[in-house]
Amino acid sequence: MQAKSLYGMAVEQFNKAAELMDLEPDLAEVLRRPKRALIVEFPVMMDDGHIEVFTGYRVQHNVARGPAKGGIRYHPDTNLDEVKALAFWMTWKTAVMNLPYGGGKGGIRVDPKKLSKRELERLSRRYFSEIQIIIGPHNDIPAPDVNTNPDVMAWFMDTYSMNVGHTALGIVTGKPVDLGGSKGREEATGRGVKVCAGLAMEALGIDSKKATVAVQGFGNVGRFGALLIAQELGSKVVAVSDSKGGIYNPEGFDVEDLIKHKKEAGTVVTYPKGERIANEELLELDVDVLVPSALENAIHEGNADKIRAKAIVEGANGPTTPEADELLFKKGVLVVPDILANAGGVTVSYFEWVQDLQAFFWKLEQIRSALEEMMTDAFNDVMKTKEKYGVDMRTAAYVLAIDRVAYATRKRGIYP
Ligand code: GLU
Repeated sequence: MQAKSLYGMAVEQFNKAAELMDLEPDLAEVLRRPKRALIVEFPVMMDDGHIEVFTGYRVQHNVARGPAKGGIRYHPDTNLDEVKALAFWMTWKTAVMNLPYGGGKGGIRVDPKKLSKRELERLSRRYFSEIQIIIGPHNDIPAPDVNTNPDVMAWFMDTYSMNVGHTALGIVTGKPVDLGGSKGREEATGRGVKVCAGLAMEALGIDSKKATVAVQGFGNVGRFGALLIAQELGSKVVAVSDSKGGIYNPEGFDVEDLIKHKKEAGTVVTYPKGERIANEELLELDVDVLVPSALENAIHEGNADKIRAKAIVEGANGPTTPEADELLFKKGVLVVPDILANAGGVTVSYFEWVQDLQAFFWKLEQIRSALEEMMTDAFNDVMKTKEKYGVDMRTAAYVLAIDRVAYATRKRGIYP
């Protein structure tokens, strides 16, 4: 089956909100389109001496409120359409959080699991050099995303710094803590997910201490999301999965122990204290909260009807298709949308960038409490908008975000 355009799907979400708020059609067209899309084809010398050519992207969707901001992913399926959608979502995500940023995203079409560490370093450095023509601490600030991490961010930072002749910490966020990174950045997306899961349960009258939660994906987001939901909300995390499959235990997992197992074994599926289930089964479990934190299109018209969770907290970007959204809304499932639910990462990225520019670093407690406060405020703002218009949370989040970006665009005017 030919996959639907992800950017098309993202625009559908936007259009729904734009219509609802009576946004001028001309302005809607400006806000829908990406400002810049760069495609780079570049050679990398592999360990055995042969050369491979890779394709990379960096898209800046909108910069009306500040520099473009967003991660860089390494994935064999990455393509321009996907990166355009992801950049688009970053614009609305930074606006929902009221951060002084626009939206951007990048990616390389590669399976990083097939590369050696040296190959990964050469790939990362060459890619960053190639996109450097549009990157800068005041232009566009990348960060981690699927399959990239603080080590990759350190190579990016060093590559840019070597090219410009001085160390530029504020060029990228998600760096190692002792190299211009921020305390609390690694757990930040998971912490934001936890805040949203807690508030969603509260809104539905669910006691978090008695709640059950299933988490799809055990990368940076799923791992910390599951851990903090168990530790700080006291909920039972009864199912988790990664790209190899899922595991289920109705008694709830010791998530810390599970993380240890994943580190050693490379997967959660071999964890002995649970029964193996398929990724699709995990999504359909009878739980209170479902946290899809893997890739796009996990919940679609084929399985939305079978979802039994009362709330969905989107740790991933774009895990729910518009068709599934409609079905879930009719069923009364509360969907906390990606542009709010996973915004904890970019929020602490913002803190990191501010710390880098000021060369003054904050304490972990300050970061955690500032993040939790901003996530709570954004959640409540979205809830108010939802009630005002009588719509789902995604549409409400878009209304809030579009209003802010539209204001900036009108106020700045069209140049020349
Ligand atoms: N990749 C993350 C996201 O999708 C973080 C982006 C950032 O920190 O700039 O929100």
